[in-house]
Amino acid sequence: MPNSPLILSGKAVSAAIKEDLMLRIKKLAEQGIKPGLTAVLVGEDPASQVYVRSKERQSVQLGFKSIVMRLDASTTQEELLRIVEALNQDASVHGILVQLPLPAHIDDQLIIEAIDPEKDVDGFHPISVGKLVLGLDGFVSCTPAGILEILRYYNIQTEGKHVVVVGRSNIVGKPMANLMIQKRSMGNATVTLVHTRTPDMGVHTRQADILIAAAGVPEFIGADMVKAGAVVIDVGINRVDDASLEKGYRLTGDVNYEAVLDKVSAITPVPGGVGVMTIAMLLSNTVKSAENSLK
Ligand code: NAD
Repeated sequence: MPNSPLILSGKAVSAAIKEDLMLRIKKLAEQGIKPGLTAVLVGEDPASQVYVRSKERQSVQLGFKSIVMRLDASTTQEELLRIVEALNQDASVHGILVQLPLPAHIDDQLIIEAIDPEKDVDGFHPISVGKLVLGLDGFVSCTPAGILEILRYYNIQTEGKHVVVVGRSNIVGKPMANLMIQKRSMGNATVTLVHTRTPDMGVHTRQADILIAAAGVPEFIGADMVKAGAVVIDVGINRVDDASLEKGYRLTGDVNYEAVLDKVSAITPVPGGVGVMTIAMLLSNTVKSAENSLK
């Protein structure tokens, strides 16, 4: 009889998180504080425009003071640094988000490091990353933080489990692995991180109780790479050409969803899985920053 896995809905988790945020926003309002999120978008990158619009819409829905600064692609690094510095000084701004990637003439890392760590709601600043590694309270990169919330919501324990993370980017793979090794609830896992230089990756992925795929390679995790009964978290959001669709492409994850469905115990869909969580955690980090501003 075919297995019917639990479909881990990011939409359901995100709705629950937003409900909790609304209560916290109400309490902040009683103290005269409105969470302020300013997104800075440089240039015309179409995917970035879509992301920023979505962040703006959802933060407005929750009652944030939401501002999007749309800057010309020719904005210089010095101009952008000055803008970030002004946002650092503005007490009504609790979260600063500089949408990446920036145009090639601007050094992404330099800009990330210019953001006040107290307002680093993306969790990319070295101070935020350092706090994560040390197990201190700070802002955690939104996608891995969202994955933790999905596991928590569906009561999927990580303690003692073998978690295999595919991909070592600074925004997903590395923080994910670091979260999972922490000595606390939703941590305490044994973690393997595989990447492009790992020979025979399947040897590792087949041992995963929880497999987290964040490589950005469409549907490359097939049934032969997962253990029966594994929990699969698919972070990938890849555009694949599809002439049968009017828009000419479809979105797909890193996991071959149909191929693994009968084998796994739980899986996140794409879309509707991890992607939805990233914005929810950005909103959550901003509310946390607004609360911190009262301390
Ligand atoms: P990235 O390109 O910065 O990093 C990908 C990592 O995967 C690299 O470390 C690379 O070494 C590794 N990798 C690439 N090909 C591999 C292979 N064949 N085998 C093993 N490792 C391989 O990407 P990223 O920013 O971490 O994003 C990864 C994917 O997740 C992308 O599809 C991206 O669109 C998606 N993403 C989704 C969200 C979300 O909200 N769901 C957020 C961020 C990224």
